Amino acid sequence: MVPTKERNASSVFLRYKNEGILFDCGEGTQRQMNIAGIPRSKVTKLLISHWHGDHVLGIGGLLQTMGKAEQSLVVDIYGPRDTKKRMYHLLNSITPLPNVKLKISEANPKGVQRIFENRDYVIECASLKHNAPCIGYSFIEKDRLRVNMAYLKKMGVREGPHLKKLQAGKSIVWKGKTVDIKKATYPVKGKKIVYVADTVPCDNAILLAKDADLLISEASYASSLQGKAEQYSHLTAKQAALTANRAGAKKLVLTHFSQRYKTTEEIEDDARAVFNNAVCAHDFMKIKL
Ligand SMILES: [Zn+2]
Ligand SMILES: [Zn+2]
Repeated sequence: MVPTKERNASSVFLRYKNEGILFDCGEGTQRQMNIAGIPRSKVTKLLISHWHGDHVLGIGGLLQTMGKAEQSLVVDIYGPRDTKKRMYHLLNSITPLPNVKLKISEANPKGVQRIFENRDYVIECASLKHNAPCIGYSFIEKDRLRVNMAYLKKMGVREGPHLKKLQAGKSIVWKGKTVDIKKATYPVKGKKIVYVADTVPCDNAILLAKDADLLISEASYASSLQGKAEQYSHLTAKQAALTANRAGAKKLVLTHFSQRYKTTEEIEDDARAVFNNAVCAHDFMKIKL
C-alpha cells in the first residue's frame, strides 16, 4: 500500500507472446521496470483495478516516457467506471504524449464479463467490494493444439510452415497421404492468471479465480488484524487463501501488504493454514507458467 525500502506500490507485469499486460501501475513502476529489465515499449495493455493512488500514481510517468518513444505505441487501457474521466484529467495535467495512442475502456460488470478476446486469449473482469469502484481481472489463454512430432516423424513429415495448418486443426496431405489430425496433434490446456486487487471477501473473486493456474491476490493483513481488514475493505491472507481454495486455484501469490509487516512470515503462515500452495510476493519476483 505504502512504498517501503523493500517494497514498491502495486504493479504486476504479465508477458505473453508479443504482449505486455500491466495490472495496475503504482507510483515508481517505471523505475521498477528498469530494474526488472522490462522495456516500457513492451506495455500493450494496462488493466486498472481502481483509482486509489497506490494502484495508479505511476500511470502518468509511464505514459509520459512512452510518449517520447521513437516509433508510435498503442496502449489499451481498461478500468472501472469513471476511468475515461480520470484519464482525461490525468492526461491534461501533463505535457502531451505525441507517440502513444491510448484506447480507453470502462467496465462496470455484473458478474463476470468478457472485455477482450483475440485468437490466443481472453480477458474477463468482475466487480470486487472495496471502498471505491474496483474490478479484478482474469487472463485466460485459449486451449491450443500442439504438434506430435514423434508421430509426424514416423510418417516422414518434416518440420516447416505446413505444421501451422495442423496447429490450426486442419488436416494436411503429405506426399499423397492424409495426415490424421487426431494423431498428429494433441490438445494443451491454456493457462489462467487472475489478479484480485483491493477487496473484502466476495463471490465475484471466487468466480473470477475459478480453476486459475495462478491467483495473485491482495492480502493487506494477517488474521490477527481482521478488524482492520474489515475497516479498510481489505483481505486478510486467510481470506485470500479461502478464495483460492473455493475457486480451485492451483497457486496463490499474495501481495499488497500493510507497511506494518517488516517480514511476511505471519501473512504466509496465515494463508497456508487454509491453502498450502501460497507464497508472499517480493519485488521483482518472477513466475513462469
Ligand atoms: Zn491498494
Ligand atoms: Zn484501494
